[in-house]
Amino acid sequence: MTPCCCSVHTHATCCDGKSTLVEMAAAAYAAGVKYFGVSCHSHTPLELDVGYVLPADMTDYRRSVLALRAEYAGRMEVLLGLEWDSQSDIFPEGFDYWIGSAHYQRRENGVCYAADWGEEAFTACRDEACGGDALAVTEGYFREVARVAAMKPTILGHMDLITKLNAGNRFFDETSPRYEKAALEALHTADPMATLLEINTGGMARGYRDAPYPALFLLKEWRTMGGRIILTSDSHSADTILYGYGDSIALAKAAGFERSTILTLNGPTECRI
Ligand SMILES: [Zn+2]
Ligand SMILES: [Zn+2]
Repeated sequence: MTPCCCSVHTHATCCDGKSTLVEMAAAAYAAGVKYFGVSCHSHTPLELDVGYVLPADMTDYRRSVLALRAEYAGRMEVLLGLEWDSQSDIFPEGFDYWIGSAHYQRRENGVCYAADWGEEAFTACRDEACGGDALAVTEGYFREVARVAAMKPTILGHMDLITKLNAGNRFFDETSPRYEKAALEALHTADPMATLLEINTGGMARGYRDAPYPALFLLKEWRTMGGRIILTSDSHSADTILYGYGDSIALAKAAGFERSTILTLNGPTECRI
């Protein structure tokens, strides 16, 4: 087995993906994937999410993914997953696995600010809710990540997503002690026996970043904690199912990892990277 036989953080047109479930599965199979997981975005009550997440009733979603499982039986395992958002109004149960992700932070003024929707969302959070303090935005974001991590998801999703638009430290200094402390506190909330930390290339595939999530110092700390990793592409289209896995392997090795985890229908297993 190689890390490239597994891709379990993927989206399709039933949430905010560009390709259909059928197209995603066909592309995964053609790319040599043996363990393909679908992880569409869970429903939230947020207006911002209308059209980008699954309906609260996931009956059709489950049925469609399980139909693919039957279609590919014996050739590729199809896993039923969910990317559960911290603002979601459903509970992530009844799935083969779930990815716990924070895409928003709700502030004291009652407003939910998106972490990765663009400059306006970041600056609004900074100026309306944080008195102009950009690092306070990151601290609020990592409190949200900690809340998700404490729920012991199968995979902790893109844990430093708040850096998506921060190329060149445009909004905040990622080496500042305040930033590192907030990020590490969130990581320390995760249970290394229960949760995998993903190395996620989604921001690279869409041209926002030149490195995967998360930062090297977080991966090194996770390794010290005895944690395990999984490589994911957070793919939203059929041409990015295994995007940037080579970069993720290099990053994992730089942090001292020698193995990554593969999710299968019979549970997790490990392979050399
Ligand atoms: Zn996400
Ligand atoms: Zn995702």
